Amino acid sequence: MLSAASTDYYLGESVRQLGLRDASRQASDGRSSERYLSRGGISLYAEYSKDFVLIDGVKVLLDDAIGSQRGHLTVSKRDYDKVFVPLFWDLPKDPVRRILIDPGHGGKDTGKVSGAFKYTEKVATLDTAARLKILLEKQGFEVEFTRTKDVFLDLDDRAAMATSLKADLFISLHYNAGPTGDTTADGIETYCLTPAGQRSTNAGKAKSTTSAEPGNRFDTANMALAWGIQRRLVKSTGADDRGVRRARFAVLRTLSCPGVLIEGGFMSSRKEAALIADAAYRQKIAEAVAAGIVDYVVRARPAAK
Ligand SMILES: [Zn+2]
Repeated sequence: MLSAASTDYYLGESVRQLGLRDASRQASDGRSSERYLSRGGISLYAEYSKDFVLIDGVKVLLDDAIGSQRGHLTVSKRDYDKVFVPLFWDLPKDPVRRILIDPGHGGKDTGKVSGAFKYTEKVATLDTAARLKILLEKQGFEVEFTRTKDVFLDLDDRAAMATSLKADLFISLHYNAGPTGDTTADGIETYCLTPAGQRSTNAGKAKSTTSAEPGNRFDTANMALAWGIQRRLVKSTGADDRGVRRARFAVLRTLSCPGVLIEGGFMSSRKEAALIADAAYRQKIAEAVAAGIVDYVVRARPAAK
């Protein structure tokens, strides 16, 4: 494939290789944007200098900002390989039977605390997990939990359970909080494991490495699963789309199956703390996560022979 620079591709040229076609191109005030459509009608929108693209309207953070050369947008090879190929071409093919749900925190680890509404993250995640289990079992999946009670569990032990229980997917449920005193930050984000050599997008909380983690065997599936869930969450709740993000979280690093970590809203936000306190909203979150998993599984199902 022709490249604009040694590590960049022309965006249009690269995505046409994945079967996308041009939808529109705009340039004004030095800000140019390009839009493409997949055969299945999924749109890709990219704008010069942004560190994300919109895929079916859902924000996916990139490792490198969108560039421009000779009047055409460019994308880095890293982002082409780890974002576009998984979402538009290289479908994960492993069947999914057993799903391990990980309600974040527990026991002495309360997670975030909502001062205004008097609940803790460990309680909200366990409740959401129970709702998700019912929905997934209705779809015919076997469901396991890392914890069913208010107990403390080591992060590494949660990931190890995916191996011991022979899980096909790992879903870690969390709720978020901003800096102390900030009641305005809100929105939903879904994390997958940072690919080897790439930047994490969680402001450097997790360790940086160029070597591959065991969980990096599932980069393609991780991205497809994260995007599928984030898409359903954002569309169903109308929450601020904070994007598909990447981090080397302990629960994701050593997984023996594809996995994601979901931050289903901010307990520190006036608006979202009240929503998360409401059982109907947690049910909505569970339904969106279940729908995103089903979307992923349908796409991942091996073709009938
Ligand atoms: Zn958490």
